[in-house]
Amino acid sequence: MGKVITLFNLLPRLHQALIGLLLLIIFAAFLIPSEDAEASRHTEKTAVSTQAPQTDIQLPLAFRTPDGPQSALSGNSAEARSSDNTTQETTNTKPAEPAKPELTEDSFTVRDGDTLAAIFNRAGFSAREVYDVTQLKQTGKIVKKLMPGDSITLIKDSDGKFAGLRYQLSKIDTLVVSRNEDKLHEYTVNKEVTHEEKFVTAEITSNFWNAGVKAGLTPAQIMELATIFGWDVDFALDIREGDSFALIYDEEYADGNFLQNGNILAAEFINQGERFTAVRYTDGQYYSEEGRSMRKAFLKSPVDFKYVSSNFNPRRLHPVTGQVKAHRGVDYVAAVGTPIKSAGAGRVIKSSYNKYNGNYVFIKHNDTYTTKYLHLNKRKVKQGDYVKQGQTIGTLGATGRVTGAHLHYEFIVNGVHRNPRTVKLPKADPIAKKERAAFTKLSETLMAKIESEKQVQYARERNAQ
Ligand SMILES: [Zn+2]
Repeated sequence: MGKVITLFNLLPRLHQALIGLLLLIIFAAFLIPSEDAEASRHTEKTAVSTQAPQTDIQLPLAFRTPDGPQSALSGNSAEARSSDNTTQETTNTKPAEPAKPELTEDSFTVRDGDTLAAIFNRAGFSAREVYDVTQLKQTGKIVKKLMPGDSITLIKDSDGKFAGLRYQLSKIDTLVVSRNEDKLHEYTVNKEVTHEEKFVTAEITSNFWNAGVKAGLTPAQIMELATIFGWDVDFALDIREGDSFALIYDEEYADGNFLQNGNILAAEFINQGERFTAVRYTDGQYYSEEGRSMRKAFLKSPVDFKYVSSNFNPRRLHPVTGQVKAHRGVDYVAAVGTPIKSAGAGRVIKSSYNKYNGNYVFIKHNDTYTTKYLHLNKRKVKQGDYVKQGQTIGTLGATGRVTGAHLHYEFIVNGVHRNPRTVKLPKADPIAKKERAAFTKLSETLMAKIESEKQVQYARERNAQ
């Protein structure tokens, strides 16, 4: 009887112990998998390595009650789900493929005299299919202007039927035609264009052009920089060794690939110790950092610097025979045929020839200012013509009393000859009042950036020495 009792008493204790053991296992199940889940989270990408911890937790899983540890395993099941996903992707597409007709693509290069019909023919499509494509509004127009060398991608289904095409319209836009059931659809896909600001600075040691090239600027950017400062600096005659420039320009990327250079956003030019600045505003115009228009009534030089003999030559020999007497103009030595621009807008008051001046043009800009251009090879304007600033009025020559080809340029203020390179002219218009605050903010940001980038560059150069 007592034995029965002790056995009876023991039973709950055994039960207790079993429960205790079970709890311990459950507790362990709580800890171990969550640790593994934590660890595997970092290596989720390497799917194979997560397999090992999974086998480790098989043991506690075998002991778990249906509900208990599940929450503890949630981390793990999430991981299992994600690995399911990756397998799903590969397995999912496979059974799907036979359901839809398989598509193949081929690229065709447009040949000389090619039409869409000829290309479709090469691809094995019917005349009917060409016709349907040309009936599309946008595509119909574009395929009429296929350029030799262009590439067109044609898509074919498993029955050999036309299923679509892709045609690159530009570095950014692609025209897409796709067939859905029996209907054709057309649309364009645009790559996203992103912008990056690029900084460049250089000191001029031989000439402006070489300094620009050495700094990594393109010819177009060098000319743009000269144009921006062309009202303040005579790039043909006034550049000296030690002059320097710094600029920030915009670079455009499509899908991370370089697309093209954008605008110069801000620049600084130091010419013979004098500092000039330019900031591009939202109106597309350039203003000095204080907000004065870069455009002025007169260009500093009527000749683009790129035509003028390249290296510094501040004391040119005067090309007029035996002439040492007072010279009332500025001479630009360049090749015959170099275009000569009107320094400012105005009216042609003389376009003629005589034995001293050769072919010459006089332009009256207003009651105060007149400019004169002598020894031209050809004149391109007639008396009475109105000319715009920068308009070509003739070409450089060696007509009249000269020994060599050059332009003799005179600048007359109220009837008095003045040096166009040093004459003080009225200040340019300031930016509109309502734009002032926004411009100042932009200007300060960009000029501060130029300054800090310059410091970085100087430091780098010092370290390199
Ligand atoms: Zn002269």
